[in-house]
Amino acid sequence: MAAENSSRSFSIEFYPPRTAEGEAKLDVVHEELARLQPDFFSVTYGAGGSTRAGTQQLVLKYRQQGSDVAPHLSFGGTSEDEVLELLASYKEGGIRRIVALRGDIPSGGGSSMQYRYANELVKFLREKTGDYFHIEVACYPEVHPDARSLRSDVDFFKQKVDAGANSAITQYFYNPDAYFYFVDYCRDKGITIPIVPGIMPITNYENLSRFSAKCGAEIPLWLGKRLIEFGEDVDGLRDFGLEFVTSLCEKLLDGGAPGLHFYSMNLSKNVSQIWNNLSLSQRK
Ligand code: FAD
Repeated sequence: MAAENSSRSFSIEFYPPRTAEGEAKLDVVHEELARLQPDFFSVTYGAGGSTRAGTQQLVLKYRQQGSDVAPHLSFGGTSEDEVLELLASYKEGGIRRIVALRGDIPSGGGSSMQYRYANELVKFLREKTGDYFHIEVACYPEVHPDARSLRSDVDFFKQKVDAGANSAITQYFYNPDAYFYFVDYCRDKGITIPIVPGIMPITNYENLSRFSAKCGAEIPLWLGKRLIEFGEDVDGLRDFGLEFVTSLCEKLLDGGAPGLHFYSMNLSKNVSQIWNNLSLSQRK
């Protein structure tokens, strides 16, 4: 796979903290990571509307502080009018990029809530806001857990692109071949937009393993066994994780990936270290 873009995109994701203390910590993390000059930060959104105000407030605050920020957005339990209100506030706040998702309805979201697929949201955004926003969508090199097959998942991915998505960010993965095969498969199906790998630093085996099982991301057998061996040795696991993820990123960039999107988990240390290991600020 040859390099797809002369200019690569490097971005960092946060989630809205639940407490004032968490937000104060994130403010510091944002300040530290902003020094790396990522192309944008993004802030996740609870599809049940649980973080609606939190997402909006963080996005507008960090935008005011000079960062480019992209809110994640989904219909979830939110009405079209509420989505339009959010969009109006984002426009007014100088936001130009949205990550459009179906989202996962959190437990307790209620059985009356209907999923609305991400392609419907992309279509809605284009109808209501034209070309104003750069629209990112999600995609899944190891196939979305609800999908019947790789083919149907990619067909639905294509629907999001046909509805007007400009670029995509992948679910995280630890096997670079999964990404390269997926990109080739998408290109064969006529999907031409940039597909930026999502990168999850490794800091804690139990959390990673639980989360990966839920979202359908594979931890290769050898890697899982290696991580388990660290046991209580937090520093050892962290050092190994940094080295492994740096090498994964290197393979992806050398293979032509059009950037990287870091799932920071609201922590700065791992992302900045990988960023510096890769000299990303010079690689755009
Ligand atoms: P879709 O693209 O709508 O696809 C969902 C599933 O339905 C897939 O299996 C697809 O194959 C299938 N499908 C799609 N269209 C149709 C159709 N018309 N008919 C039948 N089946 C269809 N979750 C959050 O709650 N908040 C976030 O902020 C958030 N941010 C994320 C950011 C990234 C980069 C990624 C990769 C994931 C994120 N997620 C987030 C998780 C995401 O919401 C879940 O993976 C969710 O289950 C699917 O969202 P989607 O937008 O990919 O859905």
